[in-house]
Amino acid sequence: MDTEPYKLPFQESGLTGFLCPRCEKGRLRVKKDTVHCEETQKSRTQHANPQFEPDSGEYVYCCLLECINEVCEEVVASTGIGVLSLDVDFQADSPRESYVTSFWPQYFSPWLKVFRVPEETPLDVASEIDRSFALFFADPPSAANHLRIALERILTCLKVRRYNNSKGKRHIVRLHDRIGLLPPRYEKEKDLFLAIKWIGNAGSHSEEKLSCDDVLHAYTVMELLLAEIFISRHARPRSLAKSINKYKGPIRI
Ligand SMILES: [Zn+2]
Repeated sequence: MDTEPYKLPFQESGLTGFLCPRCEKGRLRVKKDTVHCEETQKSRTQHANPQFEPDSGEYVYCCLLECINEVCEEVVASTGIGVLSLDVDFQADSPRESYVTSFWPQYFSPWLKVFRVPEETPLDVASEIDRSFALFFADPPSAANHLRIALERILTCLKVRRYNNSKGKRHIVRLHDRIGLLPPRYEKEKDLFLAIKWIGNAGSHSEEKLSCDDVLHAYTVMELLLAEIFISRHARPRSLAKSINKYKGPIRI
């Protein structure tokens, strides 16, 4: 998983680092003549200030991006904050200055998939990760919170109990305690569960600031966790079948 494109703004020219959310193969580029960027009203009122420079202004943008994969050509809409920065071209006889616009996205429609979710992932887990992706740029704490819900659902898939019954009442088992109840064969995955849980917890508490970088850390761990839990689990029976076929009979393991 390459997290770099999700940490940086993109420009109008050239390819972005974003993967197409439809085919998940082609990269996205800004579609010609679709960028609309304007200065906000608050920023325009600052022009009378002698300290004002164009690169200190506030801008908003909207544009379309397209997938470069010729058999896909998906179109994606984006909106967010525009930023001007001064660029100096030293190639000319005398250095030339010009302003370049960069775009910090807040929304994509359809949303971008920051990492590829394995097709073996149960639908109710994958749907929570999709919700997290949808909110990633606009609301990192909420994106982290949906990862926490995905974690609860993975534990339910693994038959880790969610409720305790005591004195005729049903009590919810805390996420931290559920992770502790994982069967021994998932011992090495406990650290992955806990890491996502801590970031998910921070997303649930409004007093804690959570950045896109923090959520990207959780995505990196979640990608590995899904592979370990859902792909490896399917790989084990395949490997077992291979061994039985090799010995043409029962094996002792
Ligand atoms: Zn595509």
